[in-house]
Amino acid sequence: MTDIGISALEYVEGFRSGSISAEDFVAATLERIRGIDGDLHALVAVREEALDEARRVDKVARSGGDPGPCCGMPVTLKDNICTADTPTTCCSRMLEGYVPPYEATVSARLRGAGAVLVGKTNMDEFAMGLTTEFSAFGPTRNPWGTDLVPGGSSGGSAAAVAACECSASLGSDTGGSVRNPASFCSVVGFKPTYGLLSRHGLISYANSIEQAGPLTRTVRDAALMLDVVAGPDPMDPTTVGPCGPYLAGTEAGIEGRRVGIIREMVGDGVDGAVASAARDAASRLEGLGASCSEVSIEAARYSVAAYYVITSTEAGSNLARFDGLRYGAAREGSGLAYPDYLEEARSLLGPEVARRMVLGALVPSAGHAGRYFLKAQKARGALTREVAAAFKEFDFLLSPTVPVLPFELGSRIDDPVSLFLVDANTVAANLTGRPAVSVPYDIRDGRPVGVQLMADSMRDADLLAAARALEGVSRVEGGPP
Ligand code: GLN
Repeated sequence: MTDIGISALEYVEGFRSGSISAEDFVAATLERIRGIDGDLHALVAVREEALDEARRVDKVARSGGDPGPCCGMPVTLKDNICTADTPTTCCSRMLEGYVPPYEATVSARLRGAGAVLVGKTNMDEFAMGLTTEFSAFGPTRNPWGTDLVPGGSSGGSAAAVAACECSASLGSDTGGSVRNPASFCSVVGFKPTYGLLSRHGLISYANSIEQAGPLTRTVRDAALMLDVVAGPDPMDPTTVGPCGPYLAGTEAGIEGRRVGIIREMVGDGVDGAVASAARDAASRLEGLGASCSEVSIEAARYSVAAYYVITSTEAGSNLARFDGLRYGAAREGSGLAYPDYLEEARSLLGPEVARRMVLGALVPSAGHAGRYFLKAQKARGALTREVAAAFKEFDFLLSPTVPVLPFELGSRIDDPVSLFLVDANTVAANLTGRPAVSVPYDIRDGRPVGVQLMADSMRDADLLAAARALEGVSRVEGGPP
């Protein structure tokens, strides 16, 4: 039987040595999806064509060609990453059935490198949320306990990777949406430096801070993904780099590196089990030759508030295009006249998106901007200065990825503020453009706990080496029950 629980890199090695065929591996993956996705709902589209594509990869290899660094590896993409042959819905009724006329750069690069797309993953509508319960198509469940949320908004990607429905996935991280579900599902989630990955074809929510990022079962798999998708793209003028190679440096270790434990993220308001796991992780890194001490980032206290004001403002203008004229059930042939389009468009957006739209219209408006938007920008500036100062003293900043353990489905959905606070430790990396990664560290009461490491801009390769070191001392053994 084909073991689809191996890492992406093990698959690549197996394929290259001739011991695994892409066809067998992708067939076994599709079989796994058929067997388990009814319980998890990690995927919103499954591509049966993947099997033919895998056969083509095998054929290229058999005829002496090079099918690329991903050589038939089964991957999934979050459903806000445009794919020209598969619907891309952002898990919104507004985009139900929409097939984009072009492919996102990250997807084109991944598939161009021989990866086989087996499906698109469930997400909070337009990536707004952190439990995947705001998907218009129903929630995803956590493979570690189906009564638990998988985190979000890339919850489908994290659950799919944890449950071996693919070897790797790409999600997107605006305020933690790759790292939070990675932590909740005990997989690796990497948010690159802003600009390292092209946003061309990543449907915008808050474009000044979001990045696509890999979710994988190992740190080295995340590095493999970055080697394939990172780097400048003429279609996205905000791209930077390159600053790889990534995989080549992952065994560099953490000896002599200085690690700052962010005081505000292990103190009051943080679940005891989560804080102690982060402290334990720091002491194990010391055992590997790193030096660890506490550092205070005071502006972190305001980061959630600043984040929601800024992202709602950006979302307000980015989502203005979904006015019913170009997208949604109100377009062509509906027989509706404007402004009925607008009315219809509104009815297609879920409650969280609607909340952000109202907020996004109010906070930057004349008379209110000084109280909200400008203050939020000042808080972002203060945070950026403090984080820059911390990186003069430290190579990496450590904290729990999420201040709480994974919680039950439905338990917080009616309390948006308590949900927003779950982002407390992740948004700083986005607001300041820094790379950050969540590494599986422990299982407490059957619930995964991830530890986050953040690095200075363009130090993504170093960050992967540190994450690899942390992974080596992790207390997690094996996958979900
Ligand atoms: N929870 C945050 C939000 O709802 C983060 C989402 C994300 O990173 N896409 O905005």
